[in-house]
Amino acid sequence: MKPTLVLVGRPNVGKSTLFNRLTRSRDALVADQPGLTRDRHYGIGRVGERDYLVVDTAGFDPVAKDGIMHEMAQQAEQAIAEADALLFLVDGRVGMTPHDQQIAERLRRADRPVYLVVNKAEGMNRAVAASEFHALGLGDPLAISASHGDGVKELVALVLEPFPQDADEAEETRDKSPRIAIVGRPNVGKSTLVNALLGEERVIAFDMPGTTRDAIAIPFERNGRKYTLIDTAGLRRRGKVFEAVEKFSVIKTLQAIERCNVVVLVLDAAQDISDQDAHIGGFVLDSGRALVVAVNKWDAVDDYRRERIKADISRKLGFLSFARFHYISALKGSGVAVVLKSVDAAFAAAMSDLSTPRLTRTLQVAVAKQAPPRHGVFRPKMRYAHQGGSNPPVVVIHGSALDQVPASYVRFLERSFIEAFKLQGTPLRIQFKTAH
Ligand code: GDP
Ligand code: GDP
Repeated sequence: MKPTLVLVGRPNVGKSTLFNRLTRSRDALVADQPGLTRDRHYGIGRVGERDYLVVDTAGFDPVAKDGIMHEMAQQAEQAIAEADALLFLVDGRVGMTPHDQQIAERLRRADRPVYLVVNKAEGMNRAVAASEFHALGLGDPLAISASHGDGVKELVALVLEPFPQDADEAEETRDKSPRIAIVGRPNVGKSTLVNALLGEERVIAFDMPGTTRDAIAIPFERNGRKYTLIDTAGLRRRGKVFEAVEKFSVIKTLQAIERCNVVVLVLDAAQDISDQDAHIGGFVLDSGRALVVAVNKWDAVDDYRRERIKADISRKLGFLSFARFHYISALKGSGVAVVLKSVDAAFAAAMSDLSTPRLTRTLQVAVAKQAPPRHGVFRPKMRYAHQGGSNPPVVVIHGSALDQVPASYVRFLERSFIEAFKLQGTPLRIQFKTAH
């Protein structure tokens, strides 16, 4: 599983700035999708050698006692409880404050590794900036500058060092059967869908680790095909059925998305699309996973409502149009088989082998149809393409003057490859390699 780093600290110390630096999309094009709303509190870490998740508790005060601040404090508590490591930020220019001491007090009780990070240290002597914070009793302070980037890579390397590269991660990528994560906000019908999927079918082996921190993987077979369900709902078995027992966790949802090949995003047809639905959709897009959307509780809504939810989906979730949408009733079991069919198709698309000659030919056809726009005096030249990865498929395009290809043209290329190779249900990424 990918480690989760949680940023804590009083307001204004630079948590959001560090978060943005750590999660800045490697692929600006993802960030550029029209209509995409993303939750600026949760993201995929991009700085450093390996993958991790980052949570910014800016706005969730970890010590507030009442009102809205108390609610935010609860969110901070949940994030602290689910963290693999805590990064406690303080301000090297302001120096130590009573609020810092209060938070330090709270963090000393957390049974998680805590890293004391002295921010805004650019241009300062690091040892001097750090010295007064020794008094917080949280070990050696590490001086960084979130806005300039000084010390950030080193910090990430240090924090991630104790986490072994997942041994089963390599194992999992060799696995030829789809790993599915069923995600969605509370009450949309995730557990009901899981039961509909597993119901009459044989659960190959059911292994419930004692700790809730491990994601649970449930292998099952349907129509002679094997699948593994990655749990996100905190599923517990009660007699023959599974039910969700834990409260909703964004971190667990993100971890499950990162661990699976295909996400099934469940929406509730009886409710309008919420920000939370859109945020989860944004994570899926960011992760590059294949996707199937199940609009659930179709049995419970009339024609008026059906039209309304369809319009709402196309307005708010347009950035997920690469996925297939199914209108189902998990409760009645209708549409469940079709969802699984689309999971198969999306998995096959995400894992396809794309041959270099066909990719290059597709590229040439696309460029002949619509040439990339000139940038200044240079016109980008695209010479050939080959595959650079799967789940999502990555197409690497070689040529010259490719640094400034506009996002709209990249989308045109993406669509061209998706259509040529009939890749249903997976996003596709394009990378440019310019010869110098
Ligand atoms: P948060 O409330 O903890 O999320 O803090 P923000 O990230 O919003 O930052 C608060 C202020 O500190 C902003 O004006 C930032 O530009 C500034 N800031 C953040 N990081 C640094 C840094 O490394 N150096 C300096 N000089 N300012 C910073
Ligand atoms: P979860 O929190 O996403 O796991 O949601 P649950 O599976 O626990 O379902 C929440 C509620 O919605 C329960 O009362 C379910 O019986 C109900 N529900 C789930 N699927 C359907 C459906 O397809 N149709 C109807 N009418 N109700 C459903």
